[in-house]
Amino acid sequence: MKIAIYPGSFDPVTSGHLNIIRRAANIFDRLIVCVMINAGKNPMFSQEERVDMIRKVTADIPNVEVDSSNELLADYARRKGSCVIIKGLRAGSDFENEFQMALINHKINPNLDTMFLTSEHQYMYLSSSTVKELGAYDVDLSDFLPEQIIDDFKKRVSTIHQGGNRK
Ligand code: ADP
Repeated sequence: MKIAIYPGSFDPVTSGHLNIIRRAANIFDRLIVCVMINAGKNPMFSQEERVDMIRKVTADIPNVEVDSSNELLADYARRKGSCVIIKGLRAGSDFENEFQMALINHKINPNLDTMFLTSEHQYMYLSSSTVKELGAYDVDLSDFLPEQIIDDFKKRVSTIHQGGNRK
């Protein structure tokens, strides 16, 4: 059984992420989408909220599992019996950083390869940060976020803008 891991912050999961998830799930027997805890980033959504949102939008894809981890990705992959990391590549911005991470992960775990799926053109400039910026305004988000999470996302953003604490 070929198991792939799609790691990321998913703060929140966007339509660009979901497109990569669907395509990767078509290639592999099982895809584990893993919310990785990155000490350098200050997320808007808690780990649990991010996992819940991904579960909601992938509920119709039977071979997708959603998880979260604080581990080193190379160790996590080894523990899950996976030898492939999936990464999405957007226009320009992702390549240098992703190339470096792929080499480092392969060095730490030589059985681990990184497979890149190029972003679909309509998602090429879409990032979680852009969606969070737009969330503060009254903008139609249906081209950017899966529809199952738009209402929750807007409610959450408005709580934050009213000075509410994160859960
Ligand atoms: P972001 O950079 O938006 O904060 P993440 O860290 O959650 O995103 O990204 C997880 C993975 O998904 C990375 O491999 C990233 O390159 C990829 N990705 C993010 N947005 C898109 C998109 N719009 N299209 C394709 N891949 C994407």
